[in-house]
Amino acid sequence: MLLPHKLAHDAAVATRWSATFPCCDATIDFDFLRYVNVEKWGDFRVLLEERALDAVVCECGASHIFTATVIVEVPRKNLLIYVTHGGDGPHVESCFRQDFEGVKEVAGRRPYTFVHGWNGLEAMLDIFDGDRPDHRAPPYPHAVDGREELHTLFGYIHGDLIFFDAPHVAVAPTVNALLEFATSLADPGDITRMIAIVEGFVRFTGPIHPWIVQELGSLNLRLGDLDAAEGWLTHAARLEHRWLAATRSFTDATPTRRAGFDAPSADLPHCRPASALGDITRNRHIVNGCQPALGDYGLWYFPTMQQAATPRVYSHQNALTAQGYVHGALDRAVRDEQWLTPPGTGDLVILTIRMMMLIDQLDRTPSLAEFARYYFRSYIIGRWNEVIGPDGSPVRESMVALLAEITERTGGAEWVRPAEGLGQVDMAQFFLQRSAMELTASLRSG
Ligand SMILES: [Zn+2]
Repeated sequence: MLLPHKLAHDAAVATRWSATFPCCDATIDFDFLRYVNVEKWGDFRVLLEERALDAVVCECGASHIFTATVIVEVPRKNLLIYVTHGGDGPHVESCFRQDFEGVKEVAGRRPYTFVHGWNGLEAMLDIFDGDRPDHRAPPYPHAVDGREELHTLFGYIHGDLIFFDAPHVAVAPTVNALLEFATSLADPGDITRMIAIVEGFVRFTGPIHPWIVQELGSLNLRLGDLDAAEGWLTHAARLEHRWLAATRSFTDATPTRRAGFDAPSADLPHCRPASALGDITRNRHIVNGCQPALGDYGLWYFPTMQQAATPRVYSHQNALTAQGYVHGALDRAVRDEQWLTPPGTGDLVILTIRMMMLIDQLDRTPSLAEFARYYFRSYIIGRWNEVIGPDGSPVRESMVALLAEITERTGGAEWVRPAEGLGQVDMAQFFLQRSAMELTASLRSG
């Protein structure tokens, strides 16, 4: 198509092309669309509905399609939507980055999300308008889920959608536990100690999680350390420009109240539809994500891209090691020293449950035993490491005594794996105890 002359200069970016079509050998000029601001281009939704955005109509009336991968900016939602047409794969994000280079002057530094073709874009814009688009029918341009399960999703709720940090799923429960504790603190001494724990987590992963980096800025701000705060918050602002995957395949106890459809009572819990909301990153939320993700199929489901986007530092081993460290450090704060109190303890329970799930998996996948050892080794470091002073021995003795105490509390000096049929707690004790003994041995020999 040709862009309308009346269009504001920042409403769309296109590349002018000229091509001769085989239908009648006529040479035709057209605009190859690369960027759209939906709020500045009034007719955009109409052209989208007509699928006219990448159609070139020849003088003879024949219509030709020049598939356009377009970056669509929705300023009110603080979001860029990348319209892809090539299915799911590791290429999606690199294609976006390449296309973004050409338009970043107008598109700013907003988060971005991927959708499959014009159908995906239309469905997302419909949800933003408060409508409920239909599910897509197959075939889909991506693999479908082979299993059914519920999993926990941490993200931003936005009407019928959750936007979540797809590359950071491996560390989401650990991050959430840290944040639940961090945001409840007021005492400067507590904040200083919390910063040390969060920075301990960052040593395992690098400063790459947007919520964690932002929280370090916030903690330093509350402490009055403005230089440190500025460094973290500047970095956090840069991390805002990132992929947020969308899903509407989740369960949430809070129904959406729609315009023109009143709930029986105003007192009943409800959340507002997306049309009544602004920035998509406004409301952090935890939900149960559903597999299969039927509500996302054919619209914005990119499982292969998600796998490719997961940083290497989130290997199973490293993610568990980081989680074990945080779990140990928070257990110390709550159980040993009582310097942290609820509401964060709820998330400590979640970490404990996840630890138990890990142990539960061992029965099915014995090769995970190695990972369990990483977990408990770093758990012990997180929980008791600080008793080792720089000069060594007297503190080391108390460390050895503490570890001996765990060994005793967890059932004496049994080294064998508990017999089949023992419960999860026994397995936890087994690994905790075994790690304690290994550490004790290395302390004695060191
Ligand atoms: Zn023609």
